[in-house]
Amino acid sequence: MHVLILGGTTEARRLAESLAAEPLPGLRVTNSLAGRVSAPRTPPGEVRVGGFGGAEGLAAWLGEHAVDLLVDATHPFAGTISFNAAGAAATARVPLLALRRPGWTPVEGDDWHEAGSLAEAAGLLPALGRRVFLTTGRMGLAAFAGLDGMWFLVRSVDAPGAPCPPRTEVLLDRGPFTLDGERELLRRHRIDVLVTKDSGGAATAPKLAAAREAGVPVVVVRRPPVPEGVPVVATPEEAARWIRQAHARRMPPGRRNPHVSG
Ligand code: NAP
Repeated sequence: MHVLILGGTTEARRLAESLAAEPLPGLRVTNSLAGRVSAPRTPPGEVRVGGFGGAEGLAAWLGEHAVDLLVDATHPFAGTISFNAAGAAATARVPLLALRRPGWTPVEGDDWHEAGSLAEAAGLLPALGRRVFLTTGRMGLAAFAGLDGMWFLVRSVDAPGAPCPPRTEVLLDRGPFTLDGERELLRRHRIDVLVTKDSGGAATAPKLAAAREAGVPVVVVRRPPVPEGVPVVATPEEAARWIRQAHARRMPPGRRNPHVSG
């Protein structure tokens, strides 16, 4: 049985780790990465890197590599690949599961301002602050390039290219981050507004708590739409269970995994 995990997220890696920790007989796992990050944290199992060539290319890949199950564990803001996965799975008749972490919700004390896009987030900023902590990644910084009266601390895994806002300091780092660390960053750089995507998950959530404590407003970019009709789970454990159950249905009774019932 061959499972393809579309990855590039902590959850995708955790899913691959969980499958590797209790290997199922005859299960082959391939992890797919887009190739955006120069030194990715590679998951266990086979790894392939780079695009497939749209939904058609992915459908062809599923057929050529005899893929039995497809898991879309890409980032909630990777909208294109999720639609490609849905299209390809339908074409190739491969069962698809989306592993998507839930978004964040504001709690008492938060001062959140929702934006539908990075451009809309940029439009909100002048009314909210002057010293911006921008955590939306290195892509899409062009949306902020016209804000020359503001100062930006841009945190990203790899260095951003042009165009960037003219007054920018880059901090190369990747999560998980701690509350103490985020507090210290806000304090040291005198941050008065934070910009984030609604990525969800624990690894990058401490910035939200630090902003709440410091009374710093947060511009939250809403998630892009997702394809309809695709079953969704929120955790790597649930996705692993889905795979184990499909595997159990496939295997002759004598070779079934003892961890799966039913
Ligand atoms: P995207 O806009 O949805 O995808 C653009 C193209 O990149 C896709 O059409 C596909 O090319 C290729 N691609 C994307 N994910 C792929 C994967 N896992 N394996 C192979 N090809 C992939 O995606 P994105 O926003 O550029 O994100 C790229 C990757 O970075 C994703 O895997 C995502 O999980 C990860 N990531 C994204 C963000 C974010 O904020 N967007 C944050 C953290 C991690 P083809 O059409 O040629 O197949």
